[in-house]
Amino acid sequence: MSNTTRAGGCACGAIRYKLAEAPLIVHACHCRDCQRLTGSAFVINLWIERKFVEPNHAPKSFRLAGGTGKPHDVFFCEKCGTYVWSFYHAAPGDALFVRAGTLDRPEEVPPDVHIFTRTKLPWLQLPEGAPVFETFYKIDEVWTAKSKERLRRNKSESVE
Ligand SMILES: [Zn+2]
Ligand SMILES: [Zn+2]
Repeated sequence: MSNTTRAGGCACGAIRYKLAEAPLIVHACHCRDCQRLTGSAFVINLWIERKFVEPNHAPKSFRLAGGTGKPHDVFFCEKCGTYVWSFYHAAPGDALFVRAGTLDRPEEVPPDVHIFTRTKLPWLQLPEGAPVFETFYKIDEVWTAKSKERLRRNKSESVE
């Protein structure tokens, strides 16, 4: 995914959004929460600073107890219920996890990593050589230098 603007929206079209930057990283998450929330085998999330997510209006949200013990806010369209992104209180910085399936061109954001594969559905074969983590990973060991620098800036902005 380049730096060009990407757009997406919910199923009924009431929510439309633009991403003003490329994601920091793209996760395919195979955890049980993501399976339940999507009703599917896994979710694809674009981890991106909140300030780069530009919706036409604010989606509704509800709060779940996250697996980490810190809350997980799930944002959705109040008309059609499509879940467009999440805010994980446990994740560093002020960032959202945007669902790649709501993009107009989801084919442009293949996952960089597969996480929580300990609960991956057994019939699902991941691409050869794909980075796979049983649970989570260390950001320092996985992210590009550019993304780490963006996170560092985002964390210093969000404490102000
Ligand atoms: Zn909708
Ligand atoms: Zn998950």
